[in-house]
Amino acid sequence: MSFSDSKLYSILYGKCPRCHQGELFYNKNPYKLENWDKMHSSCSHCSLRYEREPGFFQGAMYVSYALGVALSVGVVLLNLAIGFKPVYYFVSNTLAIVLLAPLLFRWSRSVYLNIFIKYDKSKSEKHAVQTP
Ligand SMILES: [Zn+2]
Repeated sequence: MSFSDSKLYSILYGKCPRCHQGELFYNKNPYKLENWDKMHSSCSHCSLRYEREPGFFQGAMYVSYALGVALSVGVVLLNLAIGFKPVYYFVSNTLAIVLLAPLLFRWSRSVYLNIFIKYDKSKSEKHAVQTP
């Protein structure tokens, strides 16, 4: 199993969780402020519909919360290791959360999709979507 077959690949690169070929988001760059949060409705490669039901991505908020807490814990540990004062922790944590917000948003949606959809290698080998 190669890295491109893993869920981590789909999550980090914003690929379709079923085929790992199609893009989840319009823009690959999460820091390009125009359309940074816009998702395709379905996969261009395997036609998987991303929003499985209305409000599906509300569950991704829980994943986002968990990722934000993990990031804050990491910032705390880093501050403890360096010996910073609490005010520096507050500033560095706020900066980390604000600067990484676009990434956390995308990763949380991608993680949430990967929880429910399994990778199907046969779908990734299909070269083009048949259009009627
Ligand atoms: Zn796909």
